[in-house]
Amino acid sequence: MKKLLEVEDLYIDFKTLWGVAKVLNGVSFDIREGEIFGLVGETGCGKSVTALSILRLLPPNARISGKILFKGENLLEKSEEELRKIRGKEISIVFQDPMTSLNPLFKIGEQMLDVIELHEGLSREKAEEHAKKLLKAVGLSDPGRILDSYPHELSGGMRQRIMIAMALSSNPSLLIADEPTTALDVTIQKQILELILDLRSKYKFSVLLITHDLGVVAGVCDRVGVMYAGNIVEIADTEELFENPLHPYTQGLLSVVPDPRMKKPIRPLRGSVPSLLNPPSGCRFHPRCDYTSKTCTTVKPELHEYSPGHFVACHLYGGEGSD
Ligand code: SF4
Repeated sequence: MKKLLEVEDLYIDFKTLWGVAKVLNGVSFDIREGEIFGLVGETGCGKSVTALSILRLLPPNARISGKILFKGENLLEKSEEELRKIRGKEISIVFQDPMTSLNPLFKIGEQMLDVIELHEGLSREKAEEHAKKLLKAVGLSDPGRILDSYPHELSGGMRQRIMIAMALSSNPSLLIADEPTTALDVTIQKQILELILDLRSKYKFSVLLITHDLGVVAGVCDRVGVMYAGNIVEIADTEELFENPLHPYTQGLLSVVPDPRMKKPIRPLRGSVPSLLNPPSGCRFHPRCDYTSKTCTTVKPELHEYSPGHFVACHLYGGEGSD
């Protein structure tokens, strides 16, 4: 499958009052056309920063280096004007809480039609037709009533469906979904994930799904990248990751959601996530790892292909700088 997005050696630092936070530490992964790629890890590991960097929506105190190639072009070299044509059109994003993206003072119709008019250059009448079609596509059966409602008159699940409809209004090639179901109850979560799967089959876009929940990954993702403290430590097909997790951190994460597919013994995680103002040297996971060696404390393990399609950054599996 052709690559749609290639993130190469991405470093992001934030200047803060307390020092420089080294938030991304050389992140590399790619997303292929039509696939759902999950980025999973604990809160603060850099998943959302990765998503925002793709859209170049980082705050001014961020310093960024590396490459983000979208359809072969480096987004980090684009002007603000060029990016505006990509954001919300070629690449759309859905956030965790739709109430932060929807304006409570305006009816859904006004907000949706404004977005469609802006991106598609349609007349108000045509934009309304398009909006109703999209609302039906995301499973909302009475689009006329929805367009005439204020956000607070709708449930959380309905609001998230509306955000997905708005994100899809320009027929993007890449949908970034940042914890899209975290604020919803379990039944609605399942429906939203099924909706994303259905829409992907219908519209053929790729998805970057950001989540802390391995259950979400198991249900919908084709491939997964596991993030820890600003690094991707493992990438594999979802099935392979659950059956044969290599990195000690992935094994620890999976121990929280025991899955019958796992063949390896379960090793729960100990300790807590390090501060990125002063991250551990070498492998950032070394203070929490049961297999730490001297090399681990000094040499950063690089992500390398351990078996076909299965990448890991850990000295236990060889690779650059390992003994
Ligand atoms: Fe553990 Fe070393 Fe592997 Fe890091 S590189 S996960 S410390 S064994």
